[in-house]
Amino acid sequence: MAPTDGLDIVPATRGKGWLVAAGQRVAVVDVEGCQVVDLFAFCAADPTEHLSAGHTRVTRRRMFPGVGEAFVTDRRRPILTLLEDTSPGYHDMLVAACDRRRYELLGHPDHRNCADNLAEALSTLGVDLNLVPQPVNLFSRIPITPAGDLDFQPAATRPGDRIVFRAERDILLVGSSCPMDLNPISGGRPTAFGVEITDG
Ligand SMILES: [Zn+2]
Repeated sequence: MAPTDGLDIVPATRGKGWLVAAGQRVAVVDVEGCQVVDLFAFCAADPTEHLSAGHTRVTRRRMFPGVGEAFVTDRRRPILTLLEDTSPGYHDMLVAACDRRRYELLGHPDHRNCADNLAEALSTLGVDLNLVPQPVNLFSRIPITPAGDLDFQPAATRPGDRIVFRAERDILLVGSSCPMDLNPISGGRPTAFGVEITDG
């Protein structure tokens, strides 16, 4: 396990939200390795405007932004810029957040899930928003095969791997330790992650 000094640790299968001011940096750290973190970002002034995977892909003309490039909102305004990535570089923006219904279909109706983690985190921030945008699934390794299938692979992250963003406006940021343990994306054993928010 990597050192956790200075990190706000979010336990396995749980989520948390933070208010992040424009210009602040956010590091998301996979402390034990092989853990997918679902990340969501909303504009603090109007949370109905949020990071949009679809608008980011067409703006960047890539499946995922490169270092120095921004994620944009559904109103095509920059919201987060990717500054650094020490992980092997696998991230997903295609797979919907796991939710209660997904686990019901898998025979586990009371399973924790990222959609509920998001709602709980927003509620803690005083926001009641009935919306689950497509998450940025950090560290998630789900390549597309030549036949067009999604290949659910275990995350390749090592303990201490981190990805760092800069907030481009005042945002509500939510991270969820994806509780999925019925496929191998987090090695079948969800673990904690850490967040560090620093000024510029
Ligand atoms: Zn999940």
